[in-house]
Amino acid sequence: MKQVTIVEMGLRDGLQNEKVILSLDQRIYILQGLANAGLKRIEVGAFVRSEKVPQMAFTKELLSQAQELKKQKKILKDVYYSVLVPNLQGWEDATPLNPHEIGIFASCSESFSQKNINCSIDESFERFKSVIALAKKRKVKVRAYLSVCFGCPFEGPVSEKKVVELAQRMWAMKVDEISIGDTIGVAHVGQIRSLFKKLKKKIPLKKLVGHFHDTRGQALANILAAYGEGVRTFDTSLGGLGGCPYAPGSTGNVATEDVVYMFEGMGISTGINLEKLLSLNHEVESMMGKILPSKVSRAGLLSPLGAVIK
Ligand code: MG
Repeated sequence: MKQVTIVEMGLRDGLQNEKVILSLDQRIYILQGLANAGLKRIEVGAFVRSEKVPQMAFTKELLSQAQELKKQKKILKDVYYSVLVPNLQGWEDATPLNPHEIGIFASCSESFSQKNINCSIDESFERFKSVIALAKKRKVKVRAYLSVCFGCPFEGPVSEKKVVELAQRMWAMKVDEISIGDTIGVAHVGQIRSLFKKLKKKIPLKKLVGHFHDTRGQALANILAAYGEGVRTFDTSLGGLGGCPYAPGSTGNVATEDVVYMFEGMGISTGINLEKLLSLNHEVESMMGKILPSKVSRAGLLSPLGAVIK
């Protein structure tokens, strides 16, 4: 059976870029809802300083409770938790809680790297060298995010050469997966095809992930284009939560619901129950106090008798 893997970003990449700050309980509730809807890979938070990113405060408690829910069998054993770990301090905070996977982050443009993580691209690689080594020792998987792969809000278009070179550097450091990010949602199908054709010559396809934002309405087309090149893992966020603080008007990751709708419609399994996801979406909308961008969630599903299921 044809299938794709969806990695849910809403609780981290999504919420981190939203103004409304959700409580620990609300985030736990969402996590359970996502797992209950069939999501198997969930990024639960970030080990960053809460005075800098208040949306990610209590990630430690969140991960700890998430592990507890597994012990109580309220979340299935095969649901994997990922956390963003930007530096050694983050690693030390995260590791006692046994995350299945950690995420590290680099950028394709110097300006974006400086603004976002306060260091040059080379320094960021230097920083996560030690984190990767520690993770490898404990057999924790490492996923690397490469951001602004198609365009930077400060430097404009980014060359394919640069992206391929940085992705190869990551691959040489033995990360388990590289997430190719269109952080400000500027890429179009032609660019996706062209970049992934080059990337897959250097890095095994199953290690490449599409992380596309829907800012200009291109995300689903871009996902399909990447799928056409052989990519089978995609980062998405519930309802399309998120954005990019440095790119005004930038929307979040493509909505999980919309991606599930497309793939399931094509007969490609995601393992996700769309009705459960839509009902969770509406609860999250009340928490956020706004309608989220997912189009499938806004319009609902068409039932056999023509009524709409929302
Ligand atoms: Mg993103």
